[in-house]
Amino acid sequence: MQFLVLAAALLFSHAAFPNPSVKIINFGSSLRKIQQTLLKNPNAKSIEVWDQFAENLIPQDAKSFIWQKSISNWEESRQRKIKIWSDDLKTKKSDYFFAFNKIENAIRKYIPALSKTLGEPIPSRIYIMGVSGAEAIFSFDGTERGNLILGVDEILSKNLDPETVAVHELVHMFRANRIDYSSTSSGTQNLLKVSLFEEGLAINLTEKHLGKIKIVNHPPYRRPFKVTEQNLKDYVLRIKFDIDKSTDAKGLREVYSKWFVPDEVRDENYMAYRIGYEIFKKLSAKFSIKALNTWDKKTIESKVSEVLQNW
Ligand SMILES: [Zn+2]
Repeated sequence: MQFLVLAAALLFSHAAFPNPSVKIINFGSSLRKIQQTLLKNPNAKSIEVWDQFAENLIPQDAKSFIWQKSISNWEESRQRKIKIWSDDLKTKKSDYFFAFNKIENAIRKYIPALSKTLGEPIPSRIYIMGVSGAEAIFSFDGTERGNLILGVDEILSKNLDPETVAVHELVHMFRANRIDYSSTSSGTQNLLKVSLFEEGLAINLTEKHLGKIKIVNHPPYRRPFKVTEQNLKDYVLRIKFDIDKSTDAKGLREVYSKWFVPDEVRDENYMAYRIGYEIFKKLSAKFSIKALNTWDKKTIESKVSEVLQNW
């Protein structure tokens, strides 16, 4: 689905930690009502049906991001998006709506466990399970870090396991309070090394909590983890070479999209996740996860460099 973050939403409370209750906005049942209404009344206007069942789920302070209110004809664009989305929604089967609940259940189930493993407080924020142009979107209201939208459409269209995606992204969400992903102030190479670390951490914790069997469905590598030691070492040398030569913002984008952006054809994009996974495993053999969670970007960079250097 093209349009970004339709049913997304987030967060009102800026009251921070520690609040043991996690507020979740789940669009599943509203979307089902919309679907049923549209199928029953072919003449119904999608915008009216949307406004009746879903619009008020979007918190006020998330609306400007979601509807891109900075553009002058945003209302027109909102209605166009809702029309496209509604047509698509009419074709959805029950597994689609079921996935919303699967994700919500996974979030409720694994948030306390992840909090314990990382030694991070449970966030009081809201996670959205909606329709979006991505599997997961963070920080969309521009003011808070750690907000999360999970795009059910995207997760299902890529044949990803909803529970695995939910836990992986939750780990990133916990970490977002520690690491500012948007900042490049500490240098581009740092950011790539931090990305290896962060993905490795997310995959390892997902594996730890969900069990080995789920990892083959882990985003973004849906291909099995079959790689020889030598093979892996070659990739490590290549990624290290690429990271070392990326010295500006353009280089960073190139290396990031080569190694971290999912692609069905090339190997690099999923090997970065595999390498991150191995790096984190090596580090967690020496340090506790709680300790690793407290590392700042500078420490992460130097430790990741050390592991790459001594592979
Ligand atoms: Zn990730």
